[in-house]
Amino acid sequence: MPMTADALQQLRAGATKKVHITDMPFTRSNWHKHINWLNVIFIIGIHLYGCIQAIWVPLQVRTAVWAVIYYFFTGLGITAGYHRLWAHRSYSARLPLRIWLAAMGGGSVQGSIRWWARDHRAHHRYTDTDKDPYSVRKGLLYSHIGWMVMRQNPKRIGRTDVSDLNEDPVVVWQHRNYLKVVFFMGLGLPMLVAGFCWGDWWGGFIYAGILRIFFVQQATFCVNSIAHWLGDQPFDDRNSPRDHVITALATLGEGYHNFHHEFPSDYRNAIEWYQYDPTKWSIWSWKQLGLAYNLKQFRASEIEKGRVQQLQKKIDQKRAKLDWGTPLDQLPIMEWDDYIELVQNGRGLIVIAGVVHDVTDFVKDHPGGKAMINSGLGKDATAMFNGGVYYHSNAAQNLLSTMRVGIIRGGSEVEIWRRAQKESTAQYVRDGMGQRIIRAGEQVTKLPMPIPTADVA
Ligand SMILES: [Zn+2]
Ligand SMILES: [Zn+2]
Repeated sequence: MPMTADALQQLRAGATKKVHITDMPFTRSNWHKHINWLNVIFIIGIHLYGCIQAIWVPLQVRTAVWAVIYYFFTGLGITAGYHRLWAHRSYSARLPLRIWLAAMGGGSVQGSIRWWARDHRAHHRYTDTDKDPYSVRKGLLYSHIGWMVMRQNPKRIGRTDVSDLNEDPVVVWQHRNYLKVVFFMGLGLPMLVAGFCWGDWWGGFIYAGILRIFFVQQATFCVNSIAHWLGDQPFDDRNSPRDHVITALATLGEGYHNFHHEFPSDYRNAIEWYQYDPTKWSIWSWKQLGLAYNLKQFRASEIEKGRVQQLQKKIDQKRAKLDWGTPLDQLPIMEWDDYIELVQNGRGLIVIAGVVHDVTDFVKDHPGGKAMINSGLGKDATAMFNGGVYYHSNAAQNLLSTMRVGIIRGGSEVEIWRRAQKESTAQYVRDGMGQRIIRAGEQVTKLPMPIPTADVA
């Protein structure tokens, strides 16, 4: 049935209504709609106010110490609680510890556990794609803070399952009472402690409250930005996560992020004892106290597999950049008589193991002298090269390979040697890029055993 003009109009109006602000370009009249003003207040506005207040509120030593301690408590609420416990389920925690972590995590003002874990699971599942809520591919600043300052289309964020979190009453309670938790744990408690204990109400509010929130937030943001930008990729370099000690220092041990994205359900981020991971140390200590259990850990052999595969890939890339000589099957076939004729016409050709090499430019550089190499031209120099005169080094074999120009057809003794050589290494090992791996001593010109001759001086 044809559509009436009215219905079409309505449909169009409906369609334009549904366009999310993030899908519209920035203009002078709509720029303010692109900004998430609530987040601007929570992550920029309040901190600016704190900085200004700090100019005339003196910082007392006791308040400074308290602010640092509370920084670690609330930071661990995020790293050990929000992240490793709830987002990744890398261990289990008893009720008192869960309440503690939910309260402390709330005090770092980064959203509820439920909201945080959902976004973080999407980040792991859709790393670097459009469905990653803080994809570093959209820019370092975007992954650090832009994704919160700018409004996001919730439909863009990849779907993840958080049904397990709905079964944890602590998570559900914290989500429902989030604003109360934030104001009490973020600002109220730090002020009350400093105020009741040593009378520094304003200092507690500004330093242990506002400015401490700023540092905890920035540290967490670094995991989304710096940890996807700075450092090594020992386990997999197909995505952006990286390992770096600086990020680890800034984030209570969350800086071994390449490992973490590979093994997200491991309660550790740093696997070596000397690496800085206070979050891991805390979880381990809670286990000793009976507060945490079921700490998950990938087997060392599984971790090593990933490391070896990545190393292999790096080696393949290095090998691909080197000249290993034209592969034998791509060389032209030459008759023995043609070979002799070319040498008689002045070409510096030498046959070793059935392969013709052009050494014209190399003769003057030959470490064994001009005379020695010249004596092999136009001959089958296989035996001379392989011990008859001098048992050439692996480096010499490699260098010789780069001078290949052809293969001799015919039933000479070199042909037989060559075949024997080929048969012994018939199962050519190829790398990830399909290139044959030439190991030391496996060059086609190399005979397995040096050839002893009577006439060696
Ligand atoms: Zn990440
Ligand atoms: Zn994670």
